[in-house]
Amino acid sequence: MIIVLMGPPGAGKGTQAHKLSEELGIPALSTGDMFRSAIKGKTPVGQKVEQYVAQGDLVPDELVTAVVEERITQSDCADGFILDGFPRTVGQAETLDKMLKKYNLSLSSVISLNVDDETIVKRQGGRLLAPQSGRVYHKAFNPPKVEGKCDETGEDLIQRTDDQEEVVRHRLKVYHEQTAPVLHYYEEQGALVEVNGEQPVNEVFKSLVDIVRRSTAAA
Ligand code: ADP
Ligand code: AMP
Repeated sequence: MIIVLMGPPGAGKGTQAHKLSEELGIPALSTGDMFRSAIKGKTPVGQKVEQYVAQGDLVPDELVTAVVEERITQSDCADGFILDGFPRTVGQAETLDKMLKKYNLSLSSVISLNVDDETIVKRQGGRLLAPQSGRVYHKAFNPPKVEGKCDETGEDLIQRTDDQEEVVRHRLKVYHEQTAPVLHYYEEQGALVEVNGEQPVNEVFKSLVDIVRRSTAAA
């Protein structure tokens, strides 16, 4: 089962990817989390991507696709995986198709979470992240049980440096220019399903589980 979660930055991809991962027993892979952890660990990849991530620009395709191929060929992905934040350009989507073909795999569902730009800005202003577990919270919309701590690991929650309003607006611009065409790419393949991402977290989740169950029943 291979699921792609699409949608603008702050649409709720990470939130839903974690819930789906628990529900389906397959890992959620976030390229953003991979880059943040590489930057923190000062790895060669981290050093290459740091500026792009800080400024809200996309990391070059070759770097992203290499990281993804390395990750999806690990043993915990054998029963499937959820991609959160990848592909983000038509070039990445084409490379993903080739990669899957090479390993005799195919996409089960491509789901776009549709959320208005102003909702995005409000959501990202209050986003809190648990860097180790990758869990995402919101100060008002999805608060942790204990203020400032992750429900799962108890680690301290942080605010992402790229969640300042100026960078968020730039990331939205980048999304509309470079990532929105990927939706048309999947639409043309007849693979795209759209979900209203403005609903509460649990309502969005119900819609996603429904879509995923239907796609596996049809396969
Ligand atoms: P993405 O991975 O698409 O960038 P996140 O999952 O990190 O988005 O969500 C962005 C912010 O919005 C987080 O603070 C999260 O808690 C909050 N959020 C996610 N889904 C919803 C929702 N359906 N309603 C309200 N807030 C949400
Ligand atoms: P995210 O956590 O998905 O919001 O991603 C954070 C940042 O990581 C983005 O603003 C980009 O700089 C970079 N990034 C994550 N995924 C990709 C991707 N698929 N292609 C290019 N850059 C990416």
